[in-house]
Amino acid sequence: MHLHSKSVTYDLDEHWSQVQGLLRTEFDDTAYRTWLAPLDLIGLEGDRVLLGVPTRFLRDWVAAHYADRIRALWRCVNPRVCGIALTVKPGSSVRPAGVAATAPTLLGPAPAPCDAAPQPLDGDIGAPLDPRFTFDNFVVGKSNNLAFAAARRVAAPEPPFNPLFLYGGVGLGKTHLMHAIAWQIRAQNPRRKVVYLSAEKFMYQFIKALRFKDTMSFKELFRSADVLMVDDVQFIGGKESTQEEFFHTFNALADRGRQIVVSSDRSPAELTGLEERIRSRLGWGLVADIQPTTYELRLGILQSKAQEFVREARVPDNVLAFLAHRITSNVRELEGALNRVVAQAILVGRAITLEMAQDVLRDLLRAHERRVTIEDIQKLVAEHYRIRIADMHSARRARAVARPRQVAMYLAKQLTPRSLPEIGRKFGGRDHTTVMHAIRKIEELRSTDPVLSEDIEALRRLLQG
Ligand code: ADP
Ligand code: MG
Repeated sequence: MHLHSKSVTYDLDEHWSQVQGLLRTEFDDTAYRTWLAPLDLIGLEGDRVLLGVPTRFLRDWVAAHYADRIRALWRCVNPRVCGIALTVKPGSSVRPAGVAATAPTLLGPAPAPCDAAPQPLDGDIGAPLDPRFTFDNFVVGKSNNLAFAAARRVAAPEPPFNPLFLYGGVGLGKTHLMHAIAWQIRAQNPRRKVVYLSAEKFMYQFIKALRFKDTMSFKELFRSADVLMVDDVQFIGGKESTQEEFFHTFNALADRGRQIVVSSDRSPAELTGLEERIRSRLGWGLVADIQPTTYELRLGILQSKAQEFVREARVPDNVLAFLAHRITSNVRELEGALNRVVAQAILVGRAITLEMAQDVLRDLLRAHERRVTIEDIQKLVAEHYRIRIADMHSARRARAVARPRQVAMYLAKQLTPRSLPEIGRKFGGRDHTTVMHAIRKIEELRSTDPVLSEDIEALRRLLQG
């Protein structure tokens, strides 16, 4: 890390006390003492101010809640400062192997230059890697084990497939896995050039190169990569010239046996904005998906995260189980919920209990609660299987209507608090034993029929929004 000379540092100290003064007037005393007072000025790194924090938890919390404000105040005090970076001070926290002690969490729009005008290419085309995103910190379960194994394989010498295409919904760990691949490759062989960047940044770099009539060096930069990772390629769709350039870069690298990893929120076939030849090219290697999380995985992730701040607060098992049950959307939200609970505990010095967690997360839980009714289920299932809603109530026993009806009963039992007799009544006055039989039948089929199982999961997700 390059720190600036003494005189600049002196000004910097001065500026930092001004920023601290402003922060103190803006935030109440408890918040200031808890979150902001522990920050230490380390120095300048390029056009960013580097601040030290004593723990990872504090770093994440400050990053999420105060970083924008701190950055804004710095810019008021010294307009040359473009951003801030928070780093856990060496020795104060567990660090993943192979990651430098000072690897900072870069905050804010990392690639954005200070002024709006693009600057010439500088050789640093990649985006920074998050030190928390390692294989060690990734919890593996049924929904992500394929993607995890594939990522591990790509990080090892001579991967048997190229490219690796990772896809899955937001917040399920795609970026985490890509960073983990990069960390591992760098740790094994620091000479290998790993370039990780978002598809948006790829486009930004390309447009910048066009502006400076410098597409040659753009090509050279990317084509010198041993491993190229492009995150969220769904954003490349539509922009013809960048699609073209992406495709050429991709082919040039693949032809030289360089490894490529891409991620997307959907499968190659579903990348409709992309030209057909690019889509099919992306699917040539291994396509690995990350499925929505299961309860076990959510619990596992929470346990591992809770372990990280065990020194700051202890989270009881029943609270972890509660969160794993209730926050089912994605891992990012799950982490956010846990952070809120822990922060509250530290901030007001309150022990973490189930009641306390419910209280702190009231708004979040309400959003997740969205009551599903039997009518909603009947309507959606009928639409899905293209039968009439009336068939949910009718006495027809043909498989084409009976099976969807059973699926609807099964979902009604899973997603609503209704009893078996109540469900029976809503399905044309059927007996509760019929409902029970339907549920058993579907449970049995789910274990042998993956298509049905997927259908049901998809329906469940739609219903629970
Ligand atoms: P995506 O890129 O798929 O939208 P991210 O990789 O950004 O998702 O993951 C969102 C957050 O959830 C990150 O903080 C990441 O570390 C965490 N996360 C996701 N999956 C896992 C997992 N299996 N184990 C541990 N943390 C996870
Ligand atoms: Mg991502």
